[in-house]
Amino acid sequence: MSQQLWSEVDEYLSGVLVPSDPALEAALKASEEAGLPSIAVAPNQGKLLNLLARMIGARSILEIGTLGGYSTIWLARALPPQGELVTLEFDPKHAAVARENIGRAGLGGLVDVRVGKALDLLPSVEGPIDLAFIDADKVNNPAYFEAALKIVRPGGVIVVDNVVRGGAVADAASDDPNIQGIRRLHEMISTEPRVDATAFQTVGAKGYDGLTIALVKS
Ligand code: SAM
Repeated sequence: MSQQLWSEVDEYLSGVLVPSDPALEAALKASEEAGLPSIAVAPNQGKLLNLLARMIGARSILEIGTLGGYSTIWLARALPPQGELVTLEFDPKHAAVARENIGRAGLGGLVDVRVGKALDLLPSVEGPIDLAFIDADKVNNPAYFEAALKIVRPGGVIVVDNVVRGGAVADAASDDPNIQGIRRLHEMISTEPRVDATAFQTVGAKGYDGLTIALVKS
């Protein structure tokens, strides 16, 4: 199995089930032109986030790690007209590109892009939140999860991206702080009575990685 095959299959799956979308494509193009790294979720992953939010009837969403707003657009599109999405981004340039992209997608009224370190911003995010998507610096995943747990309502969902990192997560002795952050996150979840969770590996256009999905118990 190879990256080329994974990309071809992703192209096929997205081609069949995730129709081409001008606003999302424009967001990726503008992000690339602005020099942002190409680390947004893949289209079929963005659609997964959108579907999860719709499945739980999300009206309020928290995102940690905005980049150019690609996943933000997918998530915000799941919201009803009175819904709201708060997204936290450390890099002012990323946030500026995201605001443009989100505005172009017609979602500016639903999305609040806040700039700063997520750990500093999180205490001011008000709950109840229906869905939290954690996709920033992995070393802080345990702290982000803890903060999300304080505001995500019972029955709500917390999704964490990039939890496999090419398989490196299996290396308990890794000296990569991001890997240690992901491993600590899973250890924390395993003893956390307020959530029920699973994690799985994914392959695709974005390589070999994975997602953790936690349900906050009622
Ligand atoms: N969710 C985006 C998407 O799929 O379109 C991708 C997010 S990208 C993987 C991670 C983002 O988190 C980057 O834009 C980075 O600047 C931001 N970030 C990194 N450390 C952060 C921190 N401490 N606080 C807030 N944002 C941070």
